[in-house]
Amino acid sequence: MELEPVQSPLLEIDHDARRAWEQCLSKIQERVSSLSYKTWFQPIIPLKLQANKLTVQVPSQFFYDWVEQHYNQLIRDAITSVLGPEGKLYYSISSDDEQPPPIQLELSLQTQHENGGAVASFTAPAPSRSSLRITELPILQNNLNSRYTFENFIKGDSNQLARAAAMAVANNPGGTSFNPLVIYGGTGLGKTHLMHALGNYAIALGKARRVIYVSSEKFTIEFVEAIQQDKVNEFSHFYRSVDLLIVDDIQFFSGKEKTQDNFFHTFNTLYQLGKQIVLSSDVPPKELKGLDERLISRFQSGLTADIQPPDLETRIAILRKKSEDSGFELPQDVIDFIATNVTSNVRELEGCLISLIARASLDNREIGIDLARDVLKMVVNEMRSPITIDQIQRVVCEFYDLPEDILRAKTRKQEVVLARQVAMFLAKELTSSSLKTIGLHFGGRDHSTVIHACQSVQDHMKEDPLFRQNVDQLKRHLTLTGR
Ligand code: ADP
Ligand code: MG
Repeated sequence: MELEPVQSPLLEIDHDARRAWEQCLSKIQERVSSLSYKTWFQPIIPLKLQANKLTVQVPSQFFYDWVEQHYNQLIRDAITSVLGPEGKLYYSISSDDEQPPPIQLELSLQTQHENGGAVASFTAPAPSRSSLRITELPILQNNLNSRYTFENFIKGDSNQLARAAAMAVANNPGGTSFNPLVIYGGTGLGKTHLMHALGNYAIALGKARRVIYVSSEKFTIEFVEAIQQDKVNEFSHFYRSVDLLIVDDIQFFSGKEKTQDNFFHTFNTLYQLGKQIVLSSDVPPKELKGLDERLISRFQSGLTADIQPPDLETRIAILRKKSEDSGFELPQDVIDFIATNVTSNVRELEGCLISLIARASLDNREIGIDLARDVLKMVVNEMRSPITIDQIQRVVCEFYDLPEDILRAKTRKQEVVLARQVAMFLAKELTSSSLKTIGLHFGGRDHSTVIHACQSVQDHMKEDPLFRQNVDQLKRHLTLTGR
């Protein structure tokens, strides 16, 4: 990628910084959509590299907040792989002349104690101007994201029950009949937000000391690692000694029997101790496939609350609040336009708003209906929910006319092996999942099996044009049409 020469008088081009950042960018580019890449990564300018500290410049505080909130892990991974585990990234925020002087922020890449939560700390590395305005970054504790609170969760008919239940639980964890509390609903509707808000509030009220938020995917990966390292006892003890355990997206436990078994015992232990369990899922518990009946029946023993897509009024309220919070008040007609056109979920709504603000500030355009229309076209396409490994498996099995769960089975029949390799290859190409996660989705196979699969599909594609056509067709089907 070519980067623009640095304009600011502050800076001289540092070739090492540029090279390091380009390497980071190539890793990042593989994992984000082209729209996100153009909007959020191309405008970042590498300034200097000293030892393993890379300083980059971002155009505004708003830009920094957004990147930090949404791409923190991605950038962290890229920096670690390019600069090593001690690598650090400093942000310098450029400013217009009328604006306050630049802010310098550090993203510390060390992780925090046992729960793996990240610490984002700040320091002010050698300022090039006399005064520095320092903004504090949120510190993630217990994996809880402090940005997600009840205050910034907009109430509406669609989420009223889930929100009320979450507040009741935060006020009295383990002490209501809402144990477990299961929140279910489609993607981007606020489940994760609500669960973090619950955890943050319980801590703020002093109602729970040890709170752990974990995705079921992370729980699974940690469990598999614990088995490999002969540390299952420590693992179990860790999760069984909390006051409030929040597990997000439990549908991912599907088909993972050993993890389910461990989780079942964790659940029982906590429940018997009167500790609170909060879960989320994309479907109601009774519709969860591939989950042990005894788990499903446990899940149903407390309160199950749904979140529905927001209605028009709620969408308008969300847009208004979010635009105010980001310091850009949108004209009413623009709010109405977005709220009427983006109906599926809050994440899309937010994505639209953010891209609109980013476009307006980067291109120096006024936020009006025309710009909104342009942005909407791009965003709605981009923001379709990401492809999942399960969808890939389903589509590949349909294509090769195989039963759906065969790719996870042990069989080494030739046609199954081929389909499995193709599905692994597509999972690597089309999702941001790690090799390890991909392997887990295919019956707990090792990451080296995934590497081997990707390599042999690539080789096969080079040799066999028909095979290549098939793989391309599958890819197109997954990215463009229904899944
Ligand atoms: P889910 O976990 O259901 O897929 P998230 O909790 O990740 O959805 O929500 C997606 C985005 O939408 C988040 O940025 C979240 O803050 C925002 N969001 C969802 N619902 C609301 C709401 N009612 N009020 C404010 N923001 C919301
Ligand atoms: Mg979520």
